[in-house]
Amino acid sequence: MFLTACNIKSAHAFSTRLGGVSTLVHTADFNLAYGRGDDDATVIRNLEIFGAEANFDPRSVISLPQIHSDVIYKVDGRDAGQGYYILDSLREGDGYITDSPDVTLGVKSADCVPILFEAFDGDKIIAVGAVHAGWRGSVKGIVPKCVRMLCEEYGADAKNIRAAIGPCIHKCCFEVGEDFLCEFTNALGNDVAMQFIRCARTAGKYFCDLVALNKYLLINSGVIPENIEIVDRCTCCEPEMFFSHRYSHGLRGTMLSVIRKS
Ligand SMILES: [Zn+2]
Repeated sequence: MFLTACNIKSAHAFSTRLGGVSTLVHTADFNLAYGRGDDDATVIRNLEIFGAEANFDPRSVISLPQIHSDVIYKVDGRDAGQGYYILDSLREGDGYITDSPDVTLGVKSADCVPILFEAFDGDKIIAVGAVHAGWRGSVKGIVPKCVRMLCEEYGADAKNIRAAIGPCIHKCCFEVGEDFLCEFTNALGNDVAMQFIRCARTAGKYFCDLVALNKYLLINSGVIPENIEIVDRCTCCEPEMFFSHRYSHGLRGTMLSVIRKS
């Protein structure tokens, strides 16, 4: 089972934890990443199921090891398969852009924020993008970088970019500590950072709103609010529906968000 965003026209999907063949308690049942406990064949089977349902060729997916960076690759059909079918000498990174329909962009998450992009000109889709924006990637600027790259590489106009923020941990559940606050405010500046931090009445508890932060970063990059959709689901509030790193204390499967230019 997967979710979609109404504003994105290209084939795209945000997977959930339902609808696959993983049988371990913590990966059941739609784990889409290696190294979480499932054997490789199970992960590939899940990817095949996801592709059949969401209209992409599983062999066309690129999804590299992610490192909470602002590294984004411009890819095409030659990069298809990297991260699932091709595992030799993989690069690492957290985002992709392409104007090719022969590669499906995939970002993995289980609380972090998957964001899908689509640059258009009238009815025509020019290019698509996908980023994995955990808070580290967000404060490093992966969102504005993706918008900038779509404009520079494919002649897109930021006003003509649609973006969809997928299921992720919301402010209800993303409690953060002193170390986080320190790094977060250093990176964004106190005034900006504090717009996205909520202090609970219970003394000493702070919560971060990653969804609002990424929406702010999109708007700040020139994306217009009407073109931004938020799939308003908290991964940590719905552990039966989504994998959540926070809820499961790290013992969990991984979801995949995909977009293919079409
Ligand atoms: Zn929540």
